[in-house]
Parts: sequence; C-alpha cells; structure tokens
Amino acid sequence: MLPGIDHLLEAAENEPALKGVPRPVLIRCGRETVESLRSSILREDPDVGAETLSEAAVLKRFAERADRETTLNLRPVINGTGVVIHTNLGRSPLAPEAVENIVRISNRYSNLEFDLSRGKRGSRYDAVEDILCEITGAEAAMAVNNNAGAVLLCLNTLAEGREVIVSRGELVEIGGSFRIPDVMSRSGAVLKEVGSTNRTHLRDYETAVNEATGLLLKVHQSNYSIVGFTRSVSVFELTELGRRRGLPVMEDLGSGTLIDFSRYGMIKEPTVMDSVSAGPDLVTFSGDKLLGGPQAGLIVGKKEVLDAVKKNPLTRALRIDKMTLAALESTLRLYRDPKRAVREIPTLRMLTAPEVEIERRAEKCKGLLEGIGDGRLSIQILNRASRVGGGALPLQELPSRCLGLKIEGISANTLERRMRNSDPPVIGRIEDDRFLLDFRTIQDDELTLIAEAVGRLLERGKG
Ligand SMILES: *Cc1c(COP(=O)(O)O)cnc(C)c1O
Repeated sequence: MLPGIDHLLEAAENEPALKGVPRPVLIRCGRETVESLRSSILREDPDVGAETLSEAAVLKRFAERADRETTLNLRPVINGTGVVIHTNLGRSPLAPEAVENIVRISNRYSNLEFDLSRGKRGSRYDAVEDILCEITGAEAAMAVNNNAGAVLLCLNTLAEGREVIVSRGELVEIGGSFRIPDVMSRSGAVLKEVGSTNRTHLRDYETAVNEATGLLLKVHQSNYSIVGFTRSVSVFELTELGRRRGLPVMEDLGSGTLIDFSRYGMIKEPTVMDSVSAGPDLVTFSGDKLLGGPQAGLIVGKKEVLDAVKKNPLTRALRIDKMTLAALESTLRLYRDPKRAVREIPTLRMLTAPEVEIERRAEKCKGLLEGIGDGRLSIQILNRASRVGGGALPLQELPSRCLGLKIEGISANTLERRMRNSDPPVIGRIEDDRFLLDFRTIQDDELTLIAEAVGRLLERGKG
C-alpha cells in the first residue's frame, strides 16, 4: 500500500504548502516518510492500520515532514518556567534598542576596526570601553566572547605558569562544564586552594603567598550560598594584601550587576561599581546574566593590566563579534539612566516586576483560556515563586503567579509535551499533575499565543 517516491513528489507539486521546498529536501522527506511507515509495519505497530496508510494520510505525513524541514532550528519560545535568566532558553532577551542596533550595524559596513577621526585602523574594543568606564568607574575595559573566556584570558595573562590563590569556598562549578579548577589549568595557571569550605581568612591567603604566586583571585559563589558559621575575605581586603605583597588581584563576579537590587526589595548583590571601587586590578562579569545584554565577557580594571590583556594572542580567539558589540553598546548606554534600564531591559523588568502586574497577566490569560475552553479544561491561579536563574542570587525568592492547567483525558506529561511542541513552543513545568506556567517570564504579547496553543490542543483532543 505504500506509495512510491515519484508519486509523493508528483503530489507535492499540487500542495501549496510545499511550494519552494527544494527538490532534494522533498526526495529525502519522501524517503523518510515511507521508510518510517515501512518499519512501523514490520514492527507490527498497532497504531499503523489501513487508515494511516491511506493515500491522503501518507501525503499528510509527508507534507508535515517536509514542512518541518523548512522551519529554522533556532526558534523563539515562550518561557513559562519563571526562571528569568534561563541559560537553556537563551538567557537574556534584549532591549528593543539593542536589537535595532544589531540590525543597523550588521546589514552594512561599519567602523568596527576603523578610527574615523584619524583615518586609520582602529580597535573594536573602543566601542564599549568609554561607556564601561563611565558606568563602572574603572580606568579601562574590554569585552570578549563570554565571561568564561574573560576569566581564561585574564588568568592566562596574569598568571601563566604561576600560582593563583583561591578560597576553597569559591571553587565554583557554573554548569555547562565551567569549573574554576578546570579553567585554571587550561589557562596554564596553577590553582592554590586556601582556607576551608565555610571559612577562609586573610591570613590563609597571606601564608600561601610565595615566590611562585602570580595572582590573588576572588570568585563569586554565583549559584550556591554557604550559610551558618562562615567567613570570607572581601575583595577590598584582598586588594590591600595584594598591594602590600606586590601581587595583582582579580575578582570574577559572575553575573555582575550594574544596578543595586536591594532598591527593589531584593537581596543586596554587590554591584560591579562596588567591586571596582575596592581597587582590584581586574573584575570580570557576564554580559547576558543580570546585565541583561548579549552574551559577552566584560573585563574592567587598571589600564596597565588591561593593556597586557589586550596584547595577549588569546584575545583573538575570544574576540567579540560586531553584532554582539552593537547590542552591548546600546544595552550599556541604557544604564546611564538606571530607571530607564530597569524599564527597558527585559531581564531587569521581569526581575523587578511587581506581583500585581504578574497577577494581572495571569488573570488575563485565564480569561482568554476560559473563553476557548470547554468542560475538560480546568484552570487555577497559583502562588508560586520564580527564580533569578543564570547562577545569580540563588537565595532570592520572587513571589509570582502561575496558571495550573489540567485537561480531562490528557495527562500532565502529554500536556507538557504538546505545549513544548506547539508553534511557538510553550515551556512550562509539571507540578502535582498540572501543567504550570509562570507569568513573570511571559510577555504580554504572548498571552494570545498561549491561548491559541491550548485551543489547538483541545481541538485535537476532540478528533
Ligand atoms: C556564569 C559565570 C561564569 C561564566 O560566564 P559566561 O558568561 O556564562 O561564560 C564565570 N564565572 C562565574 C562566577 C559565573 O557565575
């Protein structure tokens, strides 16, 4: 009963949805459709009967497969997880200005590495150096591919073949295989652990200093917290020790924020400015965590030290792309007015969103769903907590509102899978047999898309 490939190709010519799909793609999809049906038949798959093998059904299967081939792999999704800086979902959505600047710079030539005033070769690092210095108070700055790259580059520049002293309480693993000890060894520096997991004192660093010491390093704990009987050494104390012993000092801030979250009722996270004012040689942080910009690694600090970093041949391998640079410059400029930054940078807006606003969004979506739902759909508004994510502020509770969805006759697992495979995909979580969507990370213009996805699911359930 299975059709031949030629037959499928002929049918494709009369199928408007498949117009413009290249012939080699159609041939491959035709083969794959027939092959998968053939193996289902051989497996005696109970779901494959005469109906599945009807000409119309096979053609539909083929058209769906070919259609999938024409959708791009990288797609926008709706983040209903409530994790604001979600590394798996692309971390920080960009501010409109940043997006516009990417388009403005990337569809034509630019002065990326051209000094317009002198008419000579310029440096791509100049694009964001001034603004980074202005905002953070540092003497010099540069941006590279990401913060992991920034840490690698700085360690390699300052401490290749030398010892780097780090507290045992700060040997962080970020996930995605970034671990301080591993990055350290790849940079050519030698890790020298001091102190204990919960307590490290200044004297621990002091007694570890010897002729082989190249750097004193402080690393932000990012995604964990040590509570109880604890002691850690501040970057200020470390800088003071470095000065006395003639050693450079660096802090890897991880997220690195440019606004004081305690003003928004959140846990105080030391800002990049706090760190810079303590006087270390280098401070590194991410562009796409709490900053809310594009993926980038930002390095700020002393001019002399940054000059050495810029000369390291590794910078070439870690260099930032012009599209990133465009987005980064626009994002950083928003910080000249912190109130505006909080309003326009999506990550900051979502983190500081008042509960009433989230509640209103959840209510609105509930209304839309009630409009399309039938007796099978049950919807509840639930008080739950969102998370900052991105390895930042792990202890911060962000009170939020979720919709809990249940559809009679469909398990929560199936509901989750269907929403995830919807277009656009809607990503949520399962809790107590309900599919949960957190409205802190859902934007206003996504509410109707969610309702449509649920609507399609109910339709399908009828068939
Ligand atoms: C996240 C993080 C990094 C890595 O930053 P990316 O921008 O993801 O490369 C490095 N160090 C710390 C402490 C971090 O939290």
